[in-house]
Amino acid sequence: MLFPAGVLPFPVREFAFELALCAHLEGGEGPGGDALLSRQLGAHVHGRRVVDVLAVDPGPEFAERAAITPERIPTAAVEADVGPGRARYWKDAFDCHPERAERAKDLAVERGFFEAERRGGRTYVRQVARYPDWFGSLVAIENKPDLGRPGDLEMQLRTDVSLGLVDEVVLATASHVTRAHLNRIPDEVGVWRFDPETGEREVIRDATPLAVDDPGVEVVESYPGRTDVRVVGSEEKQRARRRLAERAYGKGWRTFDYPACAQCSPDDDGLPQCAWKGRSVRASDECGTSCAGYEESEAVAVDTDSLRAERSPWEPEPAGRKRQQSGLDRFG
Ligand code: SF4
Repeated sequence: MLFPAGVLPFPVREFAFELALCAHLEGGEGPGGDALLSRQLGAHVHGRRVVDVLAVDPGPEFAERAAITPERIPTAAVEADVGPGRARYWKDAFDCHPERAERAKDLAVERGFFEAERRGGRTYVRQVARYPDWFGSLVAIENKPDLGRPGDLEMQLRTDVSLGLVDEVVLATASHVTRAHLNRIPDEVGVWRFDPETGEREVIRDATPLAVDDPGVEVVESYPGRTDVRVVGSEEKQRARRRLAERAYGKGWRTFDYPACAQCSPDDDGLPQCAWKGRSVRASDECGTSCAGYEESEAVAVDTDSLRAERSPWEPEPAGRKRQQSGLDRFG
């Protein structure tokens, strides 16, 4: 059911809206058809912008990426001067803080992106596979179910467009969208009207692709009467895009808990549906003995990895590409 802005007859909670939209987009309904979805990701370079939903379209070498690890590959490991050829002493290969380098090296080995070998008491690493060109378009979706309570929406969307870190920015709402609403947001931002109950999505306006290969201008702080910005170069942007795509790959969107309450029964998409409230609930905020509908129970166990694997190209158990299982992962 869709409503005029500001007159929602019941609170259309942003959380429930967000989960319903992710469930709708995952598995063929999303931008690009088989996009990988993730929620609540930092989509900034120097600022503090967090996007509600990110849709990552698979790129030409997606299968190669999926074959490495289901988890995030650390940015510092991707950027390290380590190739698939000759192994290098790991401390010579990183150009960042030693603790960050060591952590990235350990994670890259643990997750099968690096393989390690010991020589003369030192750990040498090489890439198991060249880091692939695995993602295409990045689409950031800002959820604002009720346009009557826009908060910082206008500023957030202007920041996203001006930085141009993602290929497209979309506003998703359950409200009726008026000409006045459209006039307040940048022309480049696409607009969807989405009904979380029926799963109907109407494209009110298509997004205009942003200039992701060009430098952008990022709002880093905003005070009354003053806005601090920084220019972000194109190379810095490409690195931030890769970091964002990696985070999305590793994180996914079913990152919520299920409440220990008999009223909650997850639906086919794994959404934490509460029969008492008639919608998805955020267990950490809404559930427990202070809720009038609470009925103590074991929290249901949902295999969210299996759901994600069935409905998206994410691979939970890749065979891996390690040339040898030497057990050297344990060495520092
Ligand atoms: S605690 Fe309340 S909101 Fe949470 S599942 Fe139970 S009835 Fe629903």
